[in-house]
Amino acid sequence: MTALPLVLDAPRRGKPPRHLADLTREEARAAVAGLGQPAFRADQLARHFFRGTTDPAQMTDVPVAVRETLTEGLLPGLLTPVRHQSADGGRTRKTLWRLHDGALVESVLMRYPDRATVCISSQAGCGMACPFCATGQQGLTRNLSAAEIIGQAVAAAAAMASGEIPGGPGRLSNVVFMGMGEPLANYARVRRTLDALLTPAPWGLGLSQRSVTVSTVGLVPAIRRLTEEDLHVTLAVSLHAPDDELRDTLVPINTRHKVAEVVDAADAYAARTGRRYSVEYALIRDVNDQPERADQLGRLLAKRLAHVNLIPLNPTPGSPWDASPLPAQREFVARLRAHGVPTTVRDTRGQDIDGACGQLAAADLVAGGADGVPTVATPIPALEPPVALGAEADV
Ligand code: SAH
Repeated sequence: MTALPLVLDAPRRGKPPRHLADLTREEARAAVAGLGQPAFRADQLARHFFRGTTDPAQMTDVPVAVRETLTEGLLPGLLTPVRHQSADGGRTRKTLWRLHDGALVESVLMRYPDRATVCISSQAGCGMACPFCATGQQGLTRNLSAAEIIGQAVAAAAAMASGEIPGGPGRLSNVVFMGMGEPLANYARVRRTLDALLTPAPWGLGLSQRSVTVSTVGLVPAIRRLTEEDLHVTLAVSLHAPDDELRDTLVPINTRHKVAEVVDAADAYAARTGRRYSVEYALIRDVNDQPERADQLGRLLAKRLAHVNLIPLNPTPGSPWDASPLPAQREFVARLRAHGVPTTVRDTRGQDIDGACGQLAAADLVAGGADGVPTVATPIPALEPPVALGAEADV
């Protein structure tokens, strides 16, 4: 496997068209006024957008004569669904989205008895180059705009509300930034997305802070910046190794921000917010799953406000690595717990549809366009038959 370079600055590309979800309420009101309409129509448009209404014909509180102008001007369709893939009797659903420039991203909606979680993408591809992650192996195409990120959550909320996910109409309760991309490498757009997720209707989805999780490879300056915001969303740190020598190879950003620095920054976040952070650790057979490493991780995290979430490695194409066998997993858990570190094992929901952690790699499905912009070879707007999956995930 060849090592990819780290890419922190996203390539610049043509911006997606202006969208209400990129704007503050004041900016949106000004934009509506610029289209010759009273400012209160911005609130109407916001209500329609966050409810997932995209068809102007349904916007019955907006005069017919201006519906097209307002939707074209402020609610352009930014995410075109290319296909859905379902598993777990339809309760896990991965959607492939095409963006205005042909870039592709995926999101995964997972319904559980007590909650519904959507895993969203913050970048097309990823520049962090983690060798065990399918997205990381793809490189970075571009940052998503706030509206492109928010749109994934809105679509999931609408799918839950409509009853199209088995289990009857329901509510989207959780959002995790664990799809494609490194959210903290696209800070401003992710920050704007957090506002939209947390703000009550009509200007947002009204989720609770604890049910929103930002997952990061450990971009220390950005964790520190997030700590200064008046937020207490859940922070997840993808550690994957307790020691710098191994982490340098598994999470290449570690060559810039070492384990001690990352854990320090996460501690500061926990101290400021009072919220326990989550340490993500993909268990890779004979790579990072040795009992000594469990002890080392246990010593590192004992007495910190942290919780370990072990993820058995999900297979990705071309990777020589496997998930740890069950006995090794159990031993790892037992050792962490013996150090007093709360530990859970995440199940791998969606693995059969390549929808589990680290498997999102939409670029596999595209042919390169003449200008280098990925284009969809064959858009198939069809639902695939459900694949049976037994596992319960704990995202
Ligand atoms: N860039 C963010 C979000 C990425 S995905 C981050 O790194 O945190 C969410 C989690 O899935 C991360 O912890 C990531 O390391 C993990 N992951 C990536 N590839 C994986 C794989 N093949 N198997 C299991 N987990 C994986």
